[in-house]
This record gives sequence, structure tokens and C-alpha cells, in this order.
Amino acid sequence: MKIDQPIIEFSGVHKWYGDFEVLHNINLSVRPGERIVVCGPSGSGKSTMIRCINRLEEHQQGRLIVDGTELKDDVRSIERVRKDVGMVFQQFNLFPHLTVLENLTLAPMWVGKVSKREAEERAMQQLKRVRIAEQAGKYPLQLSGGQQQRVAIARALCLSPKIMLFDEPTSALDPEMIQEVLDVMVELAEMKITMLCVTHEMAFAKAVADRVIFMDRGQIVEQAAPREFFENPKNERTKDFLSKII
Ligand code: ADP
Ligand code: MG
Repeated sequence: MKIDQPIIEFSGVHKWYGDFEVLHNINLSVRPGERIVVCGPSGSGKSTMIRCINRLEEHQQGRLIVDGTELKDDVRSIERVRKDVGMVFQQFNLFPHLTVLENLTLAPMWVGKVSKREAEERAMQQLKRVRIAEQAGKYPLQLSGGQQQRVAIARALCLSPKIMLFDEPTSALDPEMIQEVLDVMVELAEMKITMLCVTHEMAFAKAVADRVIFMDRGQIVEQAAPREFFENPKNERTKDFLSKII
């Protein structure tokens, strides 16, 4: 791959749910290693846009290329892309009947065809990274929300993704647990992994984002480096949004 080639490229992407156009003409080019924060009002299409990247949602018009593979209907392109893309959701989505360690080794063993020993070794490394190694034998519901979300991040990292998608990863957490998850995400951001993060944690955006994207009614309305975005928003809708959340 050429060094300046984008790792994610939306070109004229549209998506509809029935008659409702949820994404309207999305054009977005993400460089490898870039860290992007996506914000905007509820219902503006943020989740839908990032879920298109690993084909949890499909677009109906335009082109979407992820790590050199165009996302089309064929299963192989979807599988290829999913290997490269990790995702962390608002609601953790851990398997409740598996231990923390088993949550982390499941996909590498069955999808990645890694031996159990190697999968466990990698899992422990990632659990150490998110500072939760001592909880490896517990079940998710025995952990706090912040701990569960750190497990979810570690689980995504076990597949060595090139791209990490976060969809409001701290929105379901009690306030005192938000920072421990953000701290882990800041460390990830320093690793040069490509990150797209839907969040309204503006301090996080200021600290780590290369670019902040503002969406409204299915469109990217404004995008800029964080400083410019927060200090000098151009669009009225962006100004209105920022005045409500800051
Ligand atoms: P955001 O993440 O910005 O809050 P979403 O991407 O979740 O927005 O949703 C954008 C819009 O699409 C919302 O109006 C939502 O109600 C609608 N929507 C989301 N998922 C579906 C679906 N499966 N079927 C129909 N409408 C949906
Ligand atoms: Mg959402």
C-alpha cells in the first residue's frame, strides 16, 4: 500500500432506512494512524456512519474502501475488512457466561486460528495494557462498568486491528468510571492505531484527536483540527451544538 493512501475512504456514501435518508453524501478520507472524534446531536447518523466501516450497516450508494478493500455485498470483502477493524460499543457487549479471559481468547482461537496457549498469552498482555489482568478469571457481571469496558477494549485489541471504532464508549458509565476508560483510550491513541471515536467527551477530543467531525441530519457539516473546531466553529449548527455541551 502506498504510504499516503487513506485507510478509510467514503466517497459519496448514502444510506436509507426505508424512505429515511440516514446518511447523505458522506465524503471522508482517513489517513493511517489518524485519530478522529465524531460528534453531533442524537440521531444525526454517527453510529450508522462508523458501523458502515465494518459493515454492521450497509450503504446503498457511493463507495466505501477500507484498507484497500471496497465494501460490497460479497462475503469475502466483508470478512477481510472485519479482520482489520475492532469495535467497542456503549454497552460493552461482553459474553456474560464466559470469563474475562475466555471473552478475549474466543475470537482469536476460532476466527484467527491461534492456539489456546498463544491466545491466552496475548489476552493477558492486553489485559495488562488496560490494567485489569488480575480480573482475568472473573465473569463480566462481577466487574464494574469501567472495568467491563476496559475488557471490551482489550478484547478488540486481541485481534490486532488496524482500525478501532468506538461508539460512545463512556456514555453508559457512572461518572467516576469515565476517566479510567478515557485513560486507556488516550494510551491507544498514542500507539498510532487508526481511531474513530464517537464521543461527547470534548476534553478527550482536545487531547488526542487529529480531527473533529461534526454530523447533523446525516451529513458531515463541519470538520477541523480540535483547536480550530472548538475555538472557531464556522457552521451555525456546530456553534449551537457546542453551546449546549460545553
Ligand atoms: P446517532 O448515533 O448519531 O445518534 P444513529 O446513526 O444511531 O444516530 O441513527 C440515525 C437515525 O437513523 C436516527 O433517526 C435513528 O432513529 C435512525 N435509525 C437508526 N437505526 C435504524 C434502523 N435500524 N431502522 C430505522 N431507522 C434507524
Ligand atoms: Mg449513536
